[in-house]
Amino acid sequence: MDFASKRLKLVEKLIKNGYLKTDSVISAMRKVPRELFLPLEVRDSAYVDTPLPIGHNQTISAPHMVAIMTESLKVESSNKILEIGSGSGYQAAVLAEIAQDGFVCTIERIKPLVEWAEMKLHECGFENTSVFESDGTLGLPGNAPYDRVIVTAAAPHVPKALVEQLAEGGLLLIPVGGQGYQELKRVTLKSGELSEENLGGCVFVPLIGKDGW
Ligand code: SAM
Repeated sequence: MDFASKRLKLVEKLIKNGYLKTDSVISAMRKVPRELFLPLEVRDSAYVDTPLPIGHNQTISAPHMVAIMTESLKVESSNKILEIGSGSGYQAAVLAEIAQDGFVCTIERIKPLVEWAEMKLHECGFENTSVFESDGTLGLPGNAPYDRVIVTAAAPHVPKALVEQLAEGGLLLIPVGGQGYQELKRVTLKSGELSEENLGGCVFVPLIGKDGW
């Protein structure tokens, strides 16, 4: 089976298992070629529902986790989005596919991954993304505020700067807990008030930085 057929088959499985529900998220995951964001050695496993190594001791999240995160972020097409942890660039691509009239800023601390994500997003033709090399625990104040903030690494607590950079009506999604297990938290800013929900357990690599590990 070719990559495109495997991608459609995996998306059908994610719908059947209840991970994918929203048309815009389903269509983005049908369209974005996960295989292109992977190093050659693991490309054949692109449509196995598992995290995969992308070098530098880092991983691309499993497709069902990308589905959970993207659904939970409730992305709208005009959203300005900040992602912390670009990694391969795949999650940023899925977000950019949905936020077609918006923009995705994505931050990565490991230079070769910054270059990789940048190259892959460019190869896929995304013009509404920018990759930044910096410590994402401090956010990206120059472009704030953001309608959506998504952290794809595990934090010991919610970094203060990320909350401060949320726009009114905005959502922040972040795995919080220990280094071996976290709860996925969603923070909402509505009428100036913050509220927090726990969306379930997850396991991410650590968020390393001034306001992280
Ligand atoms: N979203 C990625 C993708 O689609 O491939 C997967 C992210 S991977 C699970 C977590 C990433 O967060 C790693 O690439 C890691 O280097 C990065 N990271 C960890 N701490 C960071 C920080 N303070 N600022 C920016 N990136 C960070």
